[in-house]
Amino acid sequence: MSLREIFRRSVQQFDRRGISESKESAEHLLACAMNLTRKELREILSTRKDILVAEEAASTFEIFCKKRLENMPVQYIVGEWDFHDLRGLHMRKTVLIPRPETEELVDFAAEILRPIVQETASRPVQVLDIGAGTGAIGLALLNVFPSIVCVACDVSPVAVDLANENAKRFGFSDRYRCVRSDIVNLTQTFPDMAGSFDAIVSNPPYIPSADMSLLQTEVDLYEDHTALWGGREGLDVIGSILSAASELTRDDSGAPIVLEVDSGHPRRMDQWIEEMPFRAEIDFAEWRRDIFGSPRMCLFRTTGREKDLRRGKGPVTE
Ligand code: GLN
Repeated sequence: MSLREIFRRSVQQFDRRGISESKESAEHLLACAMNLTRKELREILSTRKDILVAEEAASTFEIFCKKRLENMPVQYIVGEWDFHDLRGLHMRKTVLIPRPETEELVDFAAEILRPIVQETASRPVQVLDIGAGTGAIGLALLNVFPSIVCVACDVSPVAVDLANENAKRFGFSDRYRCVRSDIVNLTQTFPDMAGSFDAIVSNPPYIPSADMSLLQTEVDLYEDHTALWGGREGLDVIGSILSAASELTRDDSGAPIVLEVDSGHPRRMDQWIEEMPFRAEIDFAEWRRDIFGSPRMCLFRTTGREKDLRRGKGPVTE
């Protein structure tokens, strides 16, 4: 069968079965089966569409299509995906697939980290990535800043292995380490590192309970819900991160905590923090929109003792 025919039939079949992003899916899967980049495939499709597809590639593509027809995300089928400036980050079933908006979180975190990296010449800047998943955020930051180090954690052992493997794949093993940790045990996981992090970054689970029933079929069926669900209001894990932040970061106030959040969160952060036990330790600094226009990224900063004193309820100085 010709390339054009194979491609056309698969898109048609995906459409008929309600598979999302039918054309993009077929492109990614066919390119992978033929060992081409998506760009190369597109070029061939537009200039030499009548060429025949080798039998082996055609049967690989058929297996891929079967999986896609069961709603498996393309990223799990092909096993790797580009993220930020990292080409071919490995993906593994159930570990959260990094989204395009999380690439913007990396840019936002890089913008916040840049002055710290520039001002800290005497030692490597240390970043903590909480809920590392594939390792995407931490590894993308190591790629931006050749001098920083990243310690990461995830509750899923599959994610921990994958993140460390990805670090090795990009040659970052000497600057990256991912360990298993429960979100509530963060400070116990890093007892020797308490007070040593310059910044915290995270794409935590933040989807509120009510929205969990609205997940896309492929997300619902294949991705680990632990990486998505953030409790009733989606704020549970965010709260755990912020309550551990002061202890984990360096003493000097102002350590940044850069988080991806649900679009409903930023406008209520100020008031929510006021109700939290960590209200004296954390300031909400700013939020940003993602490429789709959703308020999606938040910057918090530790206050040190300043906020207590400002409020007149902190320790009295002699
Ligand atoms: N943006 C992701 C999704 O809806 C959610 C990721 C997360 O909860 N951290 O698929």
